[in-house]
Amino acid sequence: MNDMKQKPEGYWKQKLTPQQYHVLREQGTEAPFTGKFEAHDEKGMYTCAACGAELFSSKHKFHSGSGWPSFDQAVDQNKVELFEDDSHGMHRVEVRCSNCGGHLGHVFDDGPSTTGKRFCINSCSLGFEKGK
Ligand code: FE
Repeated sequence: MNDMKQKPEGYWKQKLTPQQYHVLREQGTEAPFTGKFEAHDEKGMYTCAACGAELFSSKHKFHSGSGWPSFDQAVDQNKVELFEDDSHGMHRVEVRCSNCGGHLGHVFDDGPSTTGKRFCINSCSLGFEKGK
């Protein structure tokens, strides 16, 4: 059993900023075009801001124009878990970190590459390791 998924909410409240806590633990969404990775083009690995798991490579990042960092795939499909989400009067597919269960964003079927996917991810749910 993965103990990151067993952490009490108080652990995350202490570890994360209020904005990160709202997005990662309460399925929040940062305002578009406000996140630090939306227009970020360095080569490296995007990690989970909560647990540090490697989630998305800069190789798979693209500019969607949506206002959030967008990827056409996860670095490994097992790194993320997908859940049906019918909140806010919409049907969407939620993306969570499979290591800690943190909410990352949503995935849509309108991606421009051969994967057909657009992972629309909150910047504040991510960290970045340059060159990795
Ligand atoms: Fe995580």
